Amino acid sequence: MKFADLHLHTCFSDGTFSPAELVEQAQKSGLACIALTDHDTVEGCAATAAACATAGMDFIPGTELTAEHRHTELHVLGYFVDTANPTLLTEIARFQAVRQERIREMVARINQLGVPLEADRVFTLAQCKSPGRPHVARALVQAGLVRTLDEAFERFLKKGRPAWVPKSKISALEAIELIHQAGGLAVMAHPGLNRSDDVIPALVDAGLDGIECFHTKHSTAMAERYLELADRYGLLVTGGSDCHGFSKGKPLIGTVRLPYAHVEKLKARRGAASFDR
Ligand code: AMP
Ligand code: FE
Ligand code: FE
Ligand code: ZN
Repeated sequence: MKFADLHLHTCFSDGTFSPAELVEQAQKSGLACIALTDHDTVEGCAATAAACATAGMDFIPGTELTAEHRHTELHVLGYFVDTANPTLLTEIARFQAVRQERIREMVARINQLGVPLEADRVFTLAQCKSPGRPHVARALVQAGLVRTLDEAFERFLKKGRPAWVPKSKISALEAIELIHQAGGLAVMAHPGLNRSDDVIPALVDAGLDGIECFHTKHSTAMAERYLELADRYGLLVTGGSDCHGFSKGKPLIGTVRLPYAHVEKLKARRGAASFDR
C-alpha cells in the first residue's frame, strides 16, 4: 500500500524543517507522496519538488490560506496551484504584509506588559516572508523571557490573551476562487479544529473541491463524520499530519497516512478541472 501526507509545513512559514529535511523525514516514514502546505506562501514548493524528484517521491505543490467566513477563521488548502500564477502571488504578498505588520503589533503588546522582546529578534529568527505566532513564541523562548512555547501561547498569544491580535483575512469564498484561478483544488483544512461544520454548505456552493477528513487533531469519530459529509456533498477526501517539525522529540510527518487512492482522485479531478475552468 502507498500512502501520502498532504499537510506539511517548512521554514518557509512556521515549520522548522528545510525542504530537504522534510523530504528526508518523509522518506524515513515510508511515504510515497507529500504535499507542501505552508501558510500563505508557495515559496518552498520549488525546493521541495526538487528534493522529492531526487528521492523518487510524488510531490503536490500547495498552500494553506488563512481565511474567514462569517467571522470564523478557517484554513483553505490549495493543491496543484500554479506557483507562478501572478494573481496568487500578488494576493500572497498582501497576506504576508499583513502577517509582518501583525508581528509588530503583537510585539508592541508584549512590550506594554513589561516584557522586553524586540520585533527584529522575531524577524531574524523567522527568516521568512510568512511569519506567525510560533515565531513570536520561539523568539520569547530564545530571549529567555518564557520557558516554553506553550507558556508563550498561554500567557500572550492564544486567542483572547493580551498579545493576540486579530488578522484581517480573505473571505473563504474568495480563497476558493483564488485557488481555482491558479489552477488548484480548494480543500477545507481540519474542519474539526475550527468547529465550523455549519459553513460547509456555503463553501460547497462556492466550489469547494475537498475536505481534510484525516488530521492529527481529528478523533476517529470526527474523521468518520467528515467522510460522511464528503460523501454527501461529493467532496474529495484528503488528510495530513500538519507537521511543523520536531514536536516533543519526534516529527508528526507520516503519522497521518492517506491511502494513495485519494491522491489518484485528486489528480483525476484536477485533470477534469483544467478543462472546465
Ligand atoms: P498564526 O497564523 O500567526 O495565527 O499562527 C497559527 C499557527 O500557530 C498554527 O498554524 C500553529 O502552527 C500554531 N499554534 C496555534 N495555536 C497554538 C498553540 N496553542 N500552541 C502552539 N502552537 C500553536
Ligand atoms: Fe502553522
Ligand atoms: Fe491550519
Ligand atoms: Zn497547517
